[in-house]
Amino acid sequence: MTIASNQGINDAGGHRVPQNGVPGGRLLPIGGFHPASFNDFPGRVAAVIFTRGCNFRCPWCHNVELIEPAGPAGLSDYDPEAVIARLAARKGKLGGVVISGGEPTLHPELLPFCRQLRELGLAVKVDSNGSRPEVLERLINAGAVDYLAMDIKAPLAKYDRLAGVKVDPEAIRKSIALIAAAGIDHQFRTTAVDSLLTAADLEQIRRLVPDGSPHKIQQFRPRRSANKED
Ligand code: SF4
Repeated sequence: MTIASNQGINDAGGHRVPQNGVPGGRLLPIGGFHPASFNDFPGRVAAVIFTRGCNFRCPWCHNVELIEPAGPAGLSDYDPEAVIARLAARKGKLGGVVISGGEPTLHPELLPFCRQLRELGLAVKVDSNGSRPEVLERLINAGAVDYLAMDIKAPLAKYDRLAGVKVDPEAIRKSIALIAAAGIDHQFRTTAVDSLLTAADLEQIRRLVPDGSPHKIQQFRPRRSANKED
């Protein structure tokens, strides 16, 4: 899914939440918001929040507007309190919230933000590139997430090329193992980019997925407008 226009979101709610419950902390940088999606949280109608900033530079990224922490001119961040207020008003119609990105685990505000959503009675799914297993572990241990989805972008030997940056393969391995053993719903996903991944690569990726864990391979599609909903 690509990010949506922020029109109207910053007007709701008014003042800001006190640092998402983190005294002296920062606000979760939200760069995109979809009020309802039917295909991003399996079995649930869910709102989707896109955080800003990513530590990868995947050459086929669908959300390049979100990679840099500061957005391009004209695309302002969303007020997290306004987003929470809007979700609270619609919680009877929503089964959950997906936090995607960008890479959500880069932000220390992620855990308290997930807790706020859980306090509203909303299930929380986090989408991650798996580069920060220590954060995934904190989310799991805190019971702050109901579902984790992780992209496995390439065989470990080719990871740097597909992620566009140097990646610690052990972090990827650790995240996969943590998610598979967490005892919560989860999914591993791979985007099959024909020009970058061979059939043999996809087979190596499948072997990284622990037995019993779901793995979805989705075909790369050329990017659509950043202001349209998928
Ligand atoms: S991890 Fe996701 S958001 Fe980050 S560059 Fe890759 S595709 Fe884009």
